[in-house]
Amino acid sequence: SAALLEGKKGLVLGVANDRSIAWGIAKAAHENGARMAFTYQGDALLKRIKPLIDTLGEGNVLMPCDVTSDADMDAVFASLKEQWGTIDFVVHAVAFSDKEQLKGHYKDTTRDNFRQTMDISVFSFTDVARRASAIMNDGGSMITLTYYGAERVMPHYNVMGVAKAALEASVRYLAADLGERGIRVNAISAGPIKTLAAMGIGDFRHILKWNEFNSPLQRNVSIDDVGGSGLYLLSDLSKGVTGEVHHVDSGYHTVGMLNMNSVAE
Ligand code: NAD
Repeated sequence: SAALLEGKKGLVLGVANDRSIAWGIAKAAHENGARMAFTYQGDALLKRIKPLIDTLGEGNVLMPCDVTSDADMDAVFASLKEQWGTIDFVVHAVAFSDKEQLKGHYKDTTRDNFRQTMDISVFSFTDVARRASAIMNDGGSMITLTYYGAERVMPHYNVMGVAKAALEASVRYLAADLGERGIRVNAISAGPIKTLAAMGIGDFRHILKWNEFNSPLQRNVSIDDVGGSGLYLLSDLSKGVTGEVHHVDSGYHTVGMLNMNSVAE
C-alpha cells in the first residue's frame, strides 16, 4: 500500500512501553514513512522506551518531557525547531490521576487531584497544540486519546471522565482555532485496552469483559486497531475531518442493549 505519511515528521507524547496506545499509532505511522520525535516522562521510562524506538531505525528522536514542566516543554519545542524546522503531526496520549481516586465515588475527588488530573490530562493537550502549531506545516494533524467515560458514567473512571469531557471540548475549540491553516484536531475514543495507565483503574478486568460481551464486534480493540484509525486521522485520507471524536471501541458506544440470542447464534 502507499506510504501515507512519507516525508512527514511528528511528535509523539505518551509511549511508556510496547503496550502503550501511542506505540500502536507510532508503529502504523512508521510503517507509512513517518519520522518521529518521542517524549518520555522521567529517566525511569528511558530504559524501556529506548530499545523500542531503536527498532524503528535511524532518524527518530527521543527527549525527556514532563508535561507539567514549562521548562521541559520549552526544551522539546526548541529542539524540534532546531533539528527539523517544522513538523506535520502530533500524537498526544498522556493522562494521569491519583490511583486512589480511580475507584470509589467521584464526589470524593480532592482539589489537589482534580487540579493535577486536569493539568496533565487536559491542559497539556492545549499547551502542546499551541506550541506545535507554531512549527506545524499548514495541513498538519493533531490527535489525542479519550474514553467513553467522558460521555457516560463508567465505574471508577470518576475525575478522569470529567477530564476527558474537557479534553473533548478542547478538541473542538482547538479545531476552530487552527482550521484556517488547514490544521486538523481530532480525538480517538478508544475502547478499554490493558495498558500501564488502565491498570490503575478499579475493576479494569471487569470493564474489559463487559465491553467484550456488549460490543457489536464482540471483542476488545487492540493498540493496532487504534493505530490504523490514528494513521487515517494523521494522514490526508481524513483531510475533511476535524473537531471529531472518533470511536475505536468495537462499536460499544452505539449499543443500548444487544440481542443476546442473535449473538449466541
Ligand atoms: P500508558 O500508561 O501506556 O500511557 C500513558 C502515558 O502518559 C505514559 O507514557 C506516561 O508516561 C504519560 N504521562 C503521565 N503523566 C505524564 C506527565 N506528567 N508528563 C508526561 N507524560 C505523562 O497508557 P495508555 O492507555 O496507552 O494511555 C494513553 C492515552 O490513552 C491516555 O490519554 C489514556 O487516558 C487514553 N485511553 C486509554 C484507554 C485504555 O483503556 N487503555 C482507553 C481510552 C483512552
